[in-house]
Amino acid sequence: EAFNANVAAASILNAFIVATPERALDAADKVDAARSAGQPLGKMAGVPIGMKDLFATRGVQTTAASHILEGFVPEYESTVSQKLWDAGAGMLGKLNLDQFAMGSSNETSYFGNVISPWRRNDGGNAALAPGGSSGGSSTAVAALLAPAATGTDTGGSIRQPAAFTGIAGIKPTYGRCSRWGIVAFASSLDQAGPMARDVRDCAIMLEAMAGFDPKDATSIDMPVPTWEAGLSGNLSGVRVGIPREYRMDGMDADVAKSWDDGIAWLRDAGASIVDISLPHTKYALPAYYIIAPAEASSNLARYDGVRYGLRELPEGAGLQDMYAATRAAGFGDEVKRRILIGTYVLSAGFYDAYYTQAQKVRALIARDFENAFRDCDVILAPTAPSAAFALGEKSDDPLAMYLNDVFAVPASLAGLPAMSVPAGLNREGLPLGLQVIGRAFDEQGVLNAGLAIE
Ligand code: GLN
Repeated sequence: EAFNANVAAASILNAFIVATPERALDAADKVDAARSAGQPLGKMAGVPIGMKDLFATRGVQTTAASHILEGFVPEYESTVSQKLWDAGAGMLGKLNLDQFAMGSSNETSYFGNVISPWRRNDGGNAALAPGGSSGGSSTAVAALLAPAATGTDTGGSIRQPAAFTGIAGIKPTYGRCSRWGIVAFASSLDQAGPMARDVRDCAIMLEAMAGFDPKDATSIDMPVPTWEAGLSGNLSGVRVGIPREYRMDGMDADVAKSWDDGIAWLRDAGASIVDISLPHTKYALPAYYIIAPAEASSNLARYDGVRYGLRELPEGAGLQDMYAATRAAGFGDEVKRRILIGTYVLSAGFYDAYYTQAQKVRALIARDFENAFRDCDVILAPTAPSAAFALGEKSDDPLAMYLNDVFAVPASLAGLPAMSVPAGLNREGLPLGLQVIGRAFDEQGVLNAGLAIE
């Protein structure tokens, strides 16, 4: 009954593409059986979770929120989702997202917008963006439809939706979680991670998701730490860096204030605060919006109407016509825009001017962080330049949409662990998030600073 009430709420918010309550019940039954048999229970025993519809799930439609994958039912399970089931979790359903995880507002989904459960305190009822691309995940958790959900983060897609909806989410170090069985967007950036109500839940779920996988060539062969057991809100001896380039002209006053509050909270927890410089910050966004579309244009070449989902076969059409018709009908506008940008920057005449240059910038950004981490242990910054914006506000202006990722993409380009934690409300009553960025493989430092903030 509770589930059915939730389904009604879920259908208004449009957080789920497919509901699978039987899977969640099945996991609960397994926990009962294991308990009666005196067997040990997994870390996620009986926890019903939402699964971003970018993870391949055996026997359950997997669409990446694109028409081109509609009806695609994988015969395999992603490594990360399999690890969650092995830890005892059960799937409530597949969650809505921006199409192929391209977007910051969940407005590029073929299955319609997700609506944030939050409203401004001005008495109006403007529907707000839940953030993106993991907008179904953020909404499912924020609206209490699920205690936790998976997300993926290529350039902020766990952190920004978490910030927009007042929940926690962590993108681990690149290589911590296997990418095998996750629909690829930009393979050198894509990472899975948990989205949940608080830092502790994120630590527990990340332990279940992380770990070496020989099926992903970029997976790191390192043991998974016991992050939950290592949680501590005592930050004495921890140096927190405040990057001066993130304090941009015209910064939203409420965002600036929440950043100052975060600095004070970390100081109260025993940390020392240091001013740091990340000099190439302003080139991160342009570099990201070259590298991510370049990789996407290559990854999305596989959707040809033969292997997966949709096939458009006009009367008398040949193979080339079938490819063209399938891709024209199957991909949304933002996806086509990225394929065009990516193909352009990889083309013979422009490769050096754009793609090679962006790769050099990426190396400089990674070096900025290496230098900064000589003087500090974690970095604190806002997650996004504003609180949630209204649905429709930026959907006709791709550049305004891309600018929302300005604080999120540097850590992605450098492959570093980064988390968004809830940090109070702005004057409109909307949640703001603060971002903690750590050294490679120091998820513990990130989680601990996050714990001191929430
Ligand atoms: N908003 C960014 C983009 O559109 C990031 C998306 C993501 O992290 N998947 O590319």
